[in-house]
Amino acid sequence: MQEQEKQRAEPTAANSRRDDPRVAAPPRASEGTALYVHLPFCAAKCHYCDFFSVPDEGQDIDAMIAAILSEAAERAPRRPRTVFLGGGTPSLLSPSQLKTLLDGLHMITGWRESAAEVTAECNPESLDLEKARCLLDLGVPRLSVGFQSLNNETLKLFGRVHSAEASFEAYGAARQAGIEHINVDLIYAIPEQSAAQWRRDLERVLDLGPDHLSAYNLTFEEDTRFKRWLDRGRLEAAAEEIELEMFHDTRRLAASHGLEAYEISNHARPGERCSHNLNYWRNGEYVGIGPGAVSKVHHTRSGNPRAISPYLRRIAGHGHATDWSEEPDEYARLAECWWLGLRLQEGVDPAEVALTAAASAPAVEASVALATRLVSDGLLEPAGTRFGLSERGLPLADGVAREFLQRLQASAQ
Ligand code: SF4
Repeated sequence: MQEQEKQRAEPTAANSRRDDPRVAAPPRASEGTALYVHLPFCAAKCHYCDFFSVPDEGQDIDAMIAAILSEAAERAPRRPRTVFLGGGTPSLLSPSQLKTLLDGLHMITGWRESAAEVTAECNPESLDLEKARCLLDLGVPRLSVGFQSLNNETLKLFGRVHSAEASFEAYGAARQAGIEHINVDLIYAIPEQSAAQWRRDLERVLDLGPDHLSAYNLTFEEDTRFKRWLDRGRLEAAAEEIELEMFHDTRRLAASHGLEAYEISNHARPGERCSHNLNYWRNGEYVGIGPGAVSKVHHTRSGNPRAISPYLRRIAGHGHATDWSEEPDEYARLAECWWLGLRLQEGVDPAEVALTAAASAPAVEASVALATRLVSDGLLEPAGTRFGLSERGLPLADGVAREFLQRLQASAQ
């Protein structure tokens, strides 16, 4: 899955505590905080994926739902503004399992009355008319569908269990069921993919009329089969100039179909931006429930174990499964606000991030000095009170992020 990007976060602060039985549940989030629920099962493990997920065969999904509801009773915010079912593959759950989960979450949080946006991630092999109707009836009006590629050979290389035809059928079933908000996930910069092939596939998807598009370049994450294949020379990463051409083509073609790039990899029709993810990029608070899920409550970041048995054991023993927690210092908090916020088209207002990060004047001044230097380097540009990535800086966003993380951390010492 792609759209729930920020949930891949791992502990980073020097004061992280991990695998420590004294790690307590994080503070209870206030009413309205965003709620993420991680369903960790997939039909098969994709070779490029580093989200926490395992093949569903032989797994006790009912036990997982019961544990997630126990954790929600302990930690979930009341009346969340947004709810995101991610994973893993939430659409893999049967209609009765989805009902148990979503009704149970409603009993605990009242999400059906409070949430302005509710999303479930779906894969084509487990999304048909019945499933889409079930999700809509249960109160989920927004689906994120993982197409990833329109090339069946590429889908095999990815280790995915569906065909491109199945992706189109799943999309059609969702529309037929009455789902009005659909995101499509795609991956580009795939080995041996040409820019012309990417443009052709992208246009076919855009011609469907999705409300939202998440298009990510392929990355080779540690501990994935793809990274091992890359290291052994079995796969070759796309050339930088082709990747750059694909990046610009994506923005241009999406815009010509009415989808504006509001974040580096995300495009939406007016009124269809993903509020749940906007909250991540603005470094807001969120509560993650389920194995591997990450939370940020006040300034505490915490996460659950990325494994099924320890998660179930901890929930049974303590009612929560918090595995690590950390309190980033003000420089780390500011750096996170900057690198996340710069991913957005709207950019970063130093006065806003100072409030979000609860940072002191010297720390904010250090971050503005760094932003000003990056303006001189041509990577950022000022716009009123805000800073945003320049045309040149856009495809170099990861490098700009590293600048903020490393330089501001150095300022703290
Ligand atoms: S479907 Fe594939 S990409 Fe999505 S979470 Fe499962 S293994 Fe990862």
